[in-house]
Amino acid sequence: MNEKKNIGFIFPPIVKGISIADTKELFPVGKIYCVGKNYEDHAKEMGDTVDKDQPFFFSKPPQAITQVNNIPFPTQTNNLHHEVELVIFIKSKCFEAQPNKVNEHIFGYAVGVDLTRRDLQKIASQSGKPWDLSKGFDNSAPISSIVKKENEILREGKIELKVNGIIKQASNIKNMAWGIEDLISCLSKYITLKPGDIIFTGTPAGVGKIYPGDKIEASIENVGKLTFSLT
Ligand code: MG
Repeated sequence: MNEKKNIGFIFPPIVKGISIADTKELFPVGKIYCVGKNYEDHAKEMGDTVDKDQPFFFSKPPQAITQVNNIPFPTQTNNLHHEVELVIFIKSKCFEAQPNKVNEHIFGYAVGVDLTRRDLQKIASQSGKPWDLSKGFDNSAPISSIVKKENEILREGKIELKVNGIIKQASNIKNMAWGIEDLISCLSKYITLKPGDIIFTGTPAGVGKIYPGDKIEASIENVGKLTFSLT
């Protein structure tokens, strides 16, 4: 017989929390998925096209999430890129969701930046190796407070990113090749989404190199703003 009394973790589990606008509550971070090539103009600037059959996904570990104002410039790169993205937050278990039921799983949205070691990503892509360390490193997913929009599907809104006050990315989330219903419906065919899970929805054109000392300001209409500096 197994004695289950007094069984516990050998050290406290680390759970990241993201602030929720106008509350004192935190959203506990679960799995983080990101969509690649979800805007035609960005796919084009990367020398590619959007995937017509279905979107593709990669993931970042929870330590990618950060809400600090000053982010240390990451190691092991000479070509760090910004990618502004709409981020979706999941509030309930979701497996094989039909597109018209996806809204039932949405807690809210935020503005995120998918920081990318573009040099490492290029080397990985060219040699057919995984992207993980080019995308999923410490502080590679700065994120704004979450705006609660339960059961709402966002279909449009200006998305923008400035570096040192100069606009580098400007588009509208209506230009996403795969919308929110498509993304969640597709992803949930492969994995079970659970409360706490997060989806970065891809970036529009204008991605580019950033340096220590740069100030990044990202915004999405009716969602929020995110500001941070690289140190
Ligand atoms: Mg991205």
